[in-house]
Amino acid sequence: MKIKFVQLDGRSCPNVVCDVCGELIKDGKMALVKWNADSGEVIACHKITCDKKSPGARSGDDPWPWEEFGQFLVYLVHSTGIDFEEEEKLAKMLSDPM
Ligand SMILES: [Zn+2]
Repeated sequence: MKIKFVQLDGRSCPNVVCDVCGELIKDGKMALVKWNADSGEVIACHKITCDKKSPGARSGDDPWPWEEFGQFLVYLVHSTGIDFEEEEKLAKMLSDPM
């Protein structure tokens, strides 16, 4: 999974890049995350068009499980012990102009 920092309102903000088409994933509801159960490689891609071209898309014995992009983020936050509400407040404080 690739991350690209993009300027938004004068700040550099992390964005996820689709591993298939190379475009930014702007609508998380239209994206998914896949991982190779053997190698551990993780990719993010747009649903439908890019998913059809992604690794494991045509395989009968799929070593590429997947989950919704939003669920992936929830699990990632949980597994890293991040207090989302606390971090969201801190991010808002840091982004507010003085
Ligand atoms: Zn894509």
